[in-house]
Amino acid sequence: MRSNHCLNRREFIASSTAALAASKLNAAGVPARIIDIHQHPGFKGRPGDKLVAHQRVMGMSVSFVLPGGTPVQRPSTHEGKSNGLAAGCTGMEEAWQLTRAHSKALRFFANEVPDLPEAKKNLEKYLKRGAIGIGEQKFNLAIDSKPMLQLYDIAKEFGVPVLLHFQHARYNHGIERFHKILERYPTVNFIGHAQTFWGNIDRNHKQPEMYPTGKVTPGGISDQLLGDYANMYGDHAAGSGRNALIRDPDHATAFLRRHQDKLMFGSDCYDLLGRGPSCRGAGLLATLRELAPSKAVLRKILFGNANRLFGLNL
Ligand SMILES: [Zn+2]
Ligand SMILES: [Zn+2]
Repeated sequence: MRSNHCLNRREFIASSTAALAASKLNAAGVPARIIDIHQHPGFKGRPGDKLVAHQRVMGMSVSFVLPGGTPVQRPSTHEGKSNGLAAGCTGMEEAWQLTRAHSKALRFFANEVPDLPEAKKNLEKYLKRGAIGIGEQKFNLAIDSKPMLQLYDIAKEFGVPVLLHFQHARYNHGIERFHKILERYPTVNFIGHAQTFWGNIDRNHKQPEMYPTGKVTPGGISDQLLGDYANMYGDHAAGSGRNALIRDPDHATAFLRRHQDKLMFGSDCYDLLGRGPSCRGAGLLATLRELAPSKAVLRKILFGNANRLFGLNL
């Protein structure tokens, strides 16, 4: 009887702790603390104060501000068409200034056109000012070209992750060779993003397709990279990150479970509201909440993984 009583008491304490953990959910039923690893300064003309307000409405604890590179006309920027990450984004100085003005809510990345002669100098300047990553890299270059190798060397020296926008025939060519980069730079963490990264969770992916639909056959390039390499991560942002989930919900739940220590939330949205149908971030949050196999996995994807990977100690 006595031991039963003790057990009940222990059970009571355990269930109280669980209730306490569960109570750390906000009104939308998602964990109270969320890190958004993918926002942009000047995104399609949105001013900095509107970005900060958007993130507050969306319920973000901390958001990462990813700048574009110096606007230049050369092949790596499609002769200027891809300046500002092809989305009107402003550069490192703006990202840094905005972060200084909102030091609790924001962190910033360094970024530059990798084949500019001054790329190394410019990246180092802002990494020394406290940039926590490099990206979003979105340029017309091969992933194993000389300028990209120089960029990975800088990331290695400063101990920061690199975030890459993979888009077939447009940006970061050669995802099928990316495992060689992961092997060559075991101490650099890489974060995959965009259409070609998310399309390639499917073993049967056709490379020109940007938003594939239908059932996923596991074992595609991205699925393998996430599974086989400790230094490969996924940025579950934007339409492509969400599409990879909703195209096959059963696969999505298994995928989120399989890579629960590797995936992170990013909103990558440019609306002013931070809620409702126009907000891609709010939509992705709803999808993750619906398809995550458990609250524990959801907490890792929305908060724990980014907190650990970027050493935020939040
Ligand atoms: Zn982006
Ligand atoms: Zn939004």
